[in-house]
Amino acid sequence: MSGGPSSWTPLKLLTWTQGFFAQRGVDAPRLTAEVLLAHALSCDRVRLYLDFDKPLGEAELARFRDFVRRRADGEPTAYLVGSREFYGRPFAVDPRVLVPRPETELVLEAALAALPPDGAALDLCTGSGILGVTLALERPGARVLATDLSDDALAVARANAAALGAEVGFARGDLWEAVPADARFDVIVSNPPYVPRGELDTLQREVRREPRLALDGGPDGADVLRRIVAGAPGRLAPGGTLVLEMHESHRELLPLLCREAGLERAEARMDLAGLPRYTVAHVASGPAPA
Ligand code: GLN
Repeated sequence: MSGGPSSWTPLKLLTWTQGFFAQRGVDAPRLTAEVLLAHALSCDRVRLYLDFDKPLGEAELARFRDFVRRRADGEPTAYLVGSREFYGRPFAVDPRVLVPRPETELVLEAALAALPPDGAALDLCTGSGILGVTLALERPGARVLATDLSDDALAVARANAAALGAEVGFARGDLWEAVPADARFDVIVSNPPYVPRGELDTLQREVRREPRLALDGGPDGADVLRRIVAGAPGRLAPGGTLVLEMHESHRELLPLLCREAGLERAEARMDLAGLPRYTVAHVASGPAPA
């Protein structure tokens, strides 16, 4: 990328950067180049093609160069642009929180399907707030509590709730510690850390830039899932539903843990890539037969 600012048009930059990203193993090299260039120019991607032969100014070019270098070094695109879309809404994200994944939209949909219009929902390990905030926006009559162990994550989640106009209660604490003892929920949802520890160092370099606290699920990845399942039956209202994102290796384990905890109809479900990605389980809707 030499040759003076005035000779670099969006079209030339995109072509050059696409090749550079491809060579450096960056996913979706063209799209990534477009997203970063649009961000450097504070415009949307369509605009790039309207102004495709208009040379960049020096400051714009410097901004873009910095993004390209950092992306090629493994920084996630979402951290560079400071946001990621989830269920059609932009969520601010930075290295304090996990980058929202598209598969988590299926977890959201399962939770939404089980949440009555005036129901109560709990989102444990909320991170950037995507699940709790989206539930509150999709079910404006529902009450939503979202918790996290990390103050840093809660700051991001609170900011997202405020920016998107969602009414969500937030509490900091280690799983059930953050939840009032007498609270009962129609839906408990979580995307907790669930990566088996031994896998952490083999993850894509982008994932290794994400908070370890949001990923490390202990030796088999299910440490936090076990603690959620153990507490869930006592916190679910009659007929309530538990929806947990999980690692593909938990396909049999997590439904089994749910059944052992007294939950019913526990079932692992697939994501769009055909991998087991979450488990849904329920408590009985009435008192158990005598
Ligand atoms: N799905 C994430 C990954 O593949 C893990 C998210 C989590 O541990 N909650 O890296």
